[in-house]
Amino acid sequence: MADDSTGPPNTYPDIVSAIGNTPLIRLNRLSEHLQASSVWVKLERCNPGGSIKDRIALQMVLEAESNGLLEEGGTIVEATSGNTGIGLAMVAAQRGYRCVFTMPDKMSKEKIDLLRAMGAEVHVCPTAVDKEDPRSYYEVAARLGREIPGAWYPDQYSHQSNPLAHYLSTGPEIWQQTGGKITHFVATMGTGGTISGTARFLREHAEINDKAPPRIIGVDAVGSILKEWFDDGTMGDPHTYQVEGFGEDFIPSATDFALIDEIHQVDDGECFQWARALAKKEGMFCGGSCGGSIKVALDIAERAEEEGRAAMVVAILPDAGNPYLSKFYNDDWLRENGWNPESWE
Ligand code: PMP
Repeated sequence: MADDSTGPPNTYPDIVSAIGNTPLIRLNRLSEHLQASSVWVKLERCNPGGSIKDRIALQMVLEAESNGLLEEGGTIVEATSGNTGIGLAMVAAQRGYRCVFTMPDKMSKEKIDLLRAMGAEVHVCPTAVDKEDPRSYYEVAARLGREIPGAWYPDQYSHQSNPLAHYLSTGPEIWQQTGGKITHFVATMGTGGTISGTARFLREHAEINDKAPPRIIGVDAVGSILKEWFDDGTMGDPHTYQVEGFGEDFIPSATDFALIDEIHQVDDGECFQWARALAKKEGMFCGGSCGGSIKVALDIAERAEEEGRAAMVVAILPDAGNPYLSKFYNDDWLRENGWNPESWE
């Protein structure tokens, strides 16, 4: 987040100083059909830990250190679908903390191996149990946080440093990179930290600059409850799905729904198909949530054009494709799971 302004450009005193300032890149081949509108993507895989979650990992640790919750030699305990764990492991390695993580068992083996490679202890827990179940990855993390002496359990789902990190970095970067011209902001929703913190900054700065606020568009997964909760206050009937990193079966308090204008749902097949298209047609090798994000971003740009308006849509691409090579980037895996990758070419 902080460049070392006294040194040569792009030179940093340590790894965490290289977090943020990710590129904003225009889509070209996937958006050829658009006339006056453009879709831009923020490539969060360019963070040093490989995902958008580096931003919140650093912010939560800074807060814990300043409040005395994390002391020298302390242990960070967290429930993570992978990316927050990698960010925390990176910050912990740089500062000498120990990490203990719990993960749902649907997560890719590469993510678990990577966390272990960075020195973390990983507990794999069942996906298909309620959040309150003592076996769930949330409950196991909470228990380990109580049991391990000197442990700090940030809980990204309720931690206000999660949206704050995006208010302090993602939002200002997008405002600056678009020269304040952004008309629509699209982000997948897990903890809701990305959408809430970024939206708050963009809305405030539109107001300060006497501009119409950008429309804030959340992307949820089919099987999750977030869209239904937002649309009519019901929880629906959550079921498991394969795309990783977004959608929830509970309402995270890190999400500020009042800042969101609309939520769209995407299914596993749409996420996988669009992520593969992003790699093959734009040269951006990214995760499944990125596929969902650009699918909705392109829909939004098309809708604006139908309404006779020119949109500048910015979509967040949270992570890289590497952890998913053995999953939706693998044709055999797709066929075994009932998809027909040939029909997507
Ligand atoms: N996509 C991926 C790959 C993620 O790891 C996350 C974070 N869980 C998200 C999307 C959603 O981001 P947020 O938690 O800030 O809503």
